Amino acid sequence: MGTQQIRNGKGHRAYRRKQAALKRRTARENLPCGWGSDYGCGELIDTTLPHTDPMSFTADHPTALANGGHLVKQDLSPFHRRCNSMKGDVAPVEIWAAT
Ligand SMILES: [Zn+2]
Repeated sequence: MGTQQIRNGKGHRAYRRKQAALKRRTARENLPCGWGSDYGCGELIDTTLPHTDPMSFTADHPTALANGGHLVKQDLSPFHRRCNSMKGDVAPVEIWAAT
């Protein structure tokens, strides 16, 4: 079963709810970006930015779906869109496993 199938399935609605809840919490509690200062960010996220903005809010899975992470049962972390994509592109999985 591919990621696309999961995204379109029942679990995706639960995921969207969880994502929306995290976004509200990020705004309320001023949660910093999960891409920490060690990686060059850790800044606050403006949740009012449009989703096309590189600094807009995204909810990140600690374990990428492609690496077998569960869509819904994980705790999500707030990330800038920019940082989420940098993490995906640059960080090898080993970095996270080693901490
Ligand atoms: Zn960031």
